[in-house]
Parts: sequence; structure tokens; C-alpha cells
Amino acid sequence: MPYCPNCRLEYVEGVKKCPDCGVRLVMELAPTEAERLAQEELVPVYYPKDEMEAKIVKAALEAEGIYAWEAADLTTEMFPFDVDTLGNDAIGVLESDAERAKKVIEKALELGEKMPTDEAAEVEGTPPET
Ligand SMILES: [Zn+2]
Repeated sequence: MPYCPNCRLEYVEGVKKCPDCGVRLVMELAPTEAERLAQEELVPVYYPKDEMEAKIVKAALEAEGIYAWEAADLTTEMFPFDVDTLGNDAIGVLESDAERAKKVIEKALELGEKMPTDEAAEVEGTPPET
């Protein structure tokens, strides 16, 4: 049966587009974050020094298609497991992504150190106001 990847409704055979959102239907739905979480363990892969680093790490993981959560954002109501074991500021990923995630993080932080800071770029790139 075809499904709408957007609203996740199931349609009868022969329907090609979702009448609600106009999105092309797919034969199989990719699992949602919640579904993957229900099946897999979340493991901590990084403990960021500050919010900036947390953002860099999360953005890099998401760019690679890896689900990433900050433990502080998780609540036990949202997810059926104990997040306390991760530590409050940990970045967690699904266990099956952990090895890949560590490599992505390592690379992202290496690049981050070589990049000029935002402040320096602004001084150079912004013409003085008149
Ligand atoms: Zn739809």
C-alpha cells in the first residue's frame, strides 16, 4: 500500500499523490525518530564544552543523516528510557550510528578549529558604516 511520506497516511493502491499535501506517495515509510528510538538504545558520543560546540557537533551529525539528541532536550515523557545515564549535556545518537558519529564529530571539530572565528570574519568582511 502506498503511503504519504509527509502525513504518513496509508492510501489505496493506485493513488500516486497525497490529496492533502500533494506529495508523491512512497511504498514504504522510513521509520520516524520515535520509532527508531523505541527499537534502539541511545548512547552518548560526545560531551560538548559549550553550547557552540554542541551546535557544531549536532549540525555535522545531521548533515550526515545521523539522528542526534542533546540529553538535556530529552524528557522521559517523550522517550521511554532513562536519559539520566547520558549526563545532562551529552550528545546522544542511536547505538547503530555511534561508530560513524564519532568519526563525523572528530572531523567536524578539526575543521572547526581551523576555521576563522565569526568575529574575525566580520571585521574583515564588513565595510565600515558611514
Ligand atoms: Zn500527505
